Amino acid sequence: MGEALLEVKNLKKYFPVSKGMFKKFGDSVKAVDDVSFTIEKGDVFGLVGESGSGKSTIGKTILRLHDKTDGEVSFKGRDVFALSKKELRELRTQTQLVFQDPFSSLNPRLRVGDAIGEAMIEHGLVSKKEVRTKVLEVLEKCGLSSYHIDRYPHEFSGGQRQRIVIARAMALNPEFIVMDEPVAALDVSIQAQIINLFSDLQREHGLSYLFISHDLSVVEHLCTKIAIMYLGNIVEFSTKEELFDHPLHPYTKALLSAVP
Ligand code: ADP
Ligand code: MG
Repeated sequence: MGEALLEVKNLKKYFPVSKGMFKKFGDSVKAVDDVSFTIEKGDVFGLVGESGSGKSTIGKTILRLHDKTDGEVSFKGRDVFALSKKELRELRTQTQLVFQDPFSSLNPRLRVGDAIGEAMIEHGLVSKKEVRTKVLEVLEKCGLSSYHIDRYPHEFSGGQRQRIVIARAMALNPEFIVMDEPVAALDVSIQAQIINLFSDLQREHGLSYLFISHDLSVVEHLCTKIAIMYLGNIVEFSTKEELFDHPLHPYTKALLSAVP
């Protein structure tokens, strides 16, 4: 057993249904019904399930971007729902979220270098004097160059934009990153490039990821452990090899049949 970085126990997240046609299904949507899992240091943990199964809600709740309904989440041994303001700021540096649509998470009016630099300064990681050098370092690590530093998000392709978002996340030197469908909006050939970037960064920095996808073939090349989600619950969890060789749950078998 490695060192536990993130422990999730019996996590529940229900969203209230205020009005409208969904009311007939009850007063709340059980987005996450009763989920437990542990991510160890260095794990690349895949969370796979169809749209609406509760993956993004898990990603946001464990980073405390949502309140929980019930259960426990601890990061590095600390209850994330009982952090002081200072500890919450630390959590915001130690953890990052990268999601599907890079355009929506980049300010269109900020040059790429400024967006990354501001985040680094805001988190007290660099001085104003050294910021440009540090920004360039992290851009280069993500396959970009000085050519890109003074450009605006709209001047980039989808794949490059996702590299920028990843660079901004990496700039804060996090220990844990939630990747929520980070390649779903990209062409297949670009998906492969971004997935290679993730494995390089993971190898070099010993990062731990929760990698969310609706597509088993995306996590196949990246993840060591995989949890399968269905209707707010994890229905199967095992190592990648076990899951591909001996799937147990019918839903896992259905997902596997779609892998080329
Ligand atoms: P996934 O990421 O697997 O597609 P989500 O976690 O986004 O699934 O959604 C799970 C369920 O929770 C869905 O039924 C969705 O409509 C609902 N849901 C997600 N976010 C909210 C929200 N902020 N308010 C109300 N319902 C939500
Ligand atoms: Mg989602």
